[in-house]
Amino acid sequence: MEKRDYYDVLGVPRGASKDEIKSAYRKLALRYHPDRNKAPEATEKFKEISEAYAVLSDDEKKTQFDQFGREGVYQRYNTEDIFRGADFDSIFRDLGFGGLGGIFERFFGGIGGIGGFEGFGPRQPTRGDDLAYDLEITFEEAAHGAAREIDIPRLSECATCNGTGAQPGTSRKRCAECNGRGQVQHVRRAGFAQFVQITTCPKCRGEGTIIEKPCKTCRGSGLERVRRKLQVKVPAGADEGQGLRLKGEGDAVAAGRAGDLYVRIHMKPHREFKRQGNDVVYETRISFPKAALGGELEVPCIDGKARLKIPPGTRSGTVFRLEGKGFPNLDGWGKGDELVRVDVDIPQDLSRRQRELLQDLAQEMGERL
Ligand SMILES: [Zn+2]
Ligand SMILES: [Zn+2]
Repeated sequence: MEKRDYYDVLGVPRGASKDEIKSAYRKLALRYHPDRNKAPEATEKFKEISEAYAVLSDDEKKTQFDQFGREGVYQRYNTEDIFRGADFDSIFRDLGFGGLGGIFERFFGGIGGIGGFEGFGPRQPTRGDDLAYDLEITFEEAAHGAAREIDIPRLSECATCNGTGAQPGTSRKRCAECNGRGQVQHVRRAGFAQFVQITTCPKCRGEGTIIEKPCKTCRGSGLERVRRKLQVKVPAGADEGQGLRLKGEGDAVAAGRAGDLYVRIHMKPHREFKRQGNDVVYETRISFPKAALGGELEVPCIDGKARLKIPPGTRSGTVFRLEGKGFPNLDGWGKGDELVRVDVDIPQDLSRRQRELLQDLAQEMGERL
């Protein structure tokens, strides 16, 4: 797919409010919804505006997009996650299209089934909780990328019962209440009408099976809290606030898929450097003679040292740029620079000779002290 800016797609300015984003999407949905617009291009367009809306209406996804663009969104979320959670259903009903009605299944049929929409499809697959982890990295790790081992407490399948919740050697039995269906029907009559109400089976809580002898380790939940070591690959160029997603490394859940783990990157402050985007900022001082006469200066870089030419007549506050000495760009192409800001040191505690020389200089320059 082409790289398009979600704001352009919806025709709203960056910084548009939630209401503006929603109303722009409603207008476009009215025009391109497949129930109304049968043109073949309309389907693509509808997908495109819906994707833009799904991302921009969600604070976290929007932040990811604002920082890293569409690619950043796809690095962190799969298609299902991108569309999940947006209020398409209520918008479509509101516009008179009668709900979601499997539109997205038609679009994305191939992609692992997009059953995640609230209130849709046959039973929702349950999903474990997402977990977050804050990882502090050094300037060097951000510059070169790094493999870090982290230790995460998470819910995992119980090792004793392999997640079944039943004591080893026993097994789950089909629930007699619902006959294994997980749902029970109640029929109500009102005059000529008959209402069938389907509810989750209260005995097995929808699972269809019950445990007769619960596992002693997990008391039948099938889950236990364990600490787990995980390898996290920090990409070269990683920066403060960036999120890395480890799919399926969140909390496990009985009969469903585990949540995801989000690792949030934080930059450890550096003794000598600051960071500005992909540039490294280094501040130093040079002597008054060097500033006036020019010379060379050795400065530290993330990778070792570099020599910098100080031209004669350099003023305090001058910033020199060492190209390519900064952090790599996340896409792997090119690097930032190191910005060296020099301030001119004013000598204090002068020796007698230094004082005389400066006085001579002052006289030579016609300076009245
Ligand atoms: Zn049951
Ligand atoms: Zn167990």
